[in-house]
Amino acid sequence: MVARVIPVETFDLVIFGGTGDLARRKILPSLFRRMRAGQMPKDARVIGTARGKMTKKAYQTLIREALEEFIKPENRTDEDVDAFVGQLDYVMLDAKGDDGWEDLGKKLREGETRAFYLSVGPSLFGVIAQQLSKRGLATPKSRIVVEKPLGHDLGSAQELNAQLSTCFTESQIYRIDHYLGKETVQNLMALRFANALFEPLWSAQHVDHVQITVAETIGVEGRGGYYDKSGAMRDMIQNHLMQLLCLTAMEPPARFEPNAVRDEKLKVIRALDPVPPSDTVRGQYRASIDDGSYLEHVDNQDSRTESFVAIKTQISNWRWAGTPFYLRTGKKLRARMSEIAIIFKDVPHSIFPEVEEKRGNALIIRLQPDEGITLRMTIKEPGPGGMRLKEVPLDMTFADALGPQVEVADAYERLIMDVIRGNQTLFMRGDEVEAAWEWTDAILAAWANSSGRPQPYDPGGSGPEDALALLHRDGRRWREIEA
Ligand code: NAP
Repeated sequence: MVARVIPVETFDLVIFGGTGDLARRKILPSLFRRMRAGQMPKDARVIGTARGKMTKKAYQTLIREALEEFIKPENRTDEDVDAFVGQLDYVMLDAKGDDGWEDLGKKLREGETRAFYLSVGPSLFGVIAQQLSKRGLATPKSRIVVEKPLGHDLGSAQELNAQLSTCFTESQIYRIDHYLGKETVQNLMALRFANALFEPLWSAQHVDHVQITVAETIGVEGRGGYYDKSGAMRDMIQNHLMQLLCLTAMEPPARFEPNAVRDEKLKVIRALDPVPPSDTVRGQYRASIDDGSYLEHVDNQDSRTESFVAIKTQISNWRWAGTPFYLRTGKKLRARMSEIAIIFKDVPHSIFPEVEEKRGNALIIRLQPDEGITLRMTIKEPGPGGMRLKEVPLDMTFADALGPQVEVADAYERLIMDVIRGNQTLFMRGDEVEAAWEWTDAILAAWANSSGRPQPYDPGGSGPEDALALLHRDGRRWREIEA
């Protein structure tokens, strides 16, 4: 099956931080894959910028090496790599200074779409936006792309939004949450709104509860300094898990159109109840045989920053009142796995009383490792010997269902092309980000005001004991963390 490729008009893409990790590992390899798919116009230009002194040729070599590192040999040819790097240029520029901006201006074409991707630290977002505006580089056909961290709390997120909006209109600002670019996440919308089957069941009347899990096996590694100021709540819940919660819980938008979708997501965030501290669990991982504990990776030996968090939250609206949403994310867990699990209620009356353990149907939307959707059903075990029931999955792993030749596109491929096309549906609006911070800040403030500490947990498991208890006390249990 060949995926349909919608052509885009030519563009100038400027990557601030064009020599950095994100640019080399994600942005440029994603663009390369789009070029191979035939979606990148031959006259499109990509201009990397950074403070480092480098010729255009040296930059092309740097990116050639990045493609060799991050794109499998079977997915690239020398010819394609040559063609791609031929479209790259470089400008030495200090975001905070005066040098380089004129050079950049000379390289940009009048009248074409301009995308400015800010792949730099967040302290430079406002500075670069102002420079672009001051130097007349931000045209009406320009877009600016930023990604997490979009602030540290509500105040800083408001400040960032204010800085961006003095230079760009909201329709020009693209706030990336790469989870929204994942195929399964978009499929969640197709599943809900293009099938008659699920939507009538999609409410507190039929759904017992929802579990959203993003589990990592890695620890903070060399990022202890950054992570200790952030923690799982800011790094994962406020953005990625919140976005997954919104898409799961939102009302059907009137149209699949940016503001219609984002209005519905915002309504979900605004309907979230304040979370009492007793419905939250914080954890910090202990040492393992081959790695130190969380505290051994950070300077502050009294740190109360959480490397794991579990939260029970409720959405106070007609659709969801009474159905808890359990969110959980952490480092150093048993497996790398992300999923949304919709657990349906049991049948109202069982005609098979001999079946002791009742487990309702469940719809599992798996984001990683293998993107796909599974529906857990109960059927009769084949063969004679009475009515024995068995749980079976109706499985649709994309690679199996659609054929191995359909490579699941990286989230960045979709999102970068959406920026060029001017489609903001899968990007967060400023008010959404602020509302998510408001909810997050209240939980963080309650933690800061309590004398409690994160509960230690062993690496390679499913988090602290209290996280299990959070569901046990409601007569429920977490799904296994497994790859
Ligand atoms: P990085 O590897 O440290 O790269 C930073 C880039 O910015 C370099 O190219 C650097 O080059 C350039 N730069 C720094 N100061 C500059 C200045 N004053 N003027 C112009 N250029 C400057 O960082 P990264 O990991 O790519 O991350 C970039 C941003 O994306 C960060 O905000 C990060 O939080 C976010 N992010 C990263 C990832 C990831 O996987 N890496 C994922 C999600 C979000 P020079 O030093 O030569 O100037």
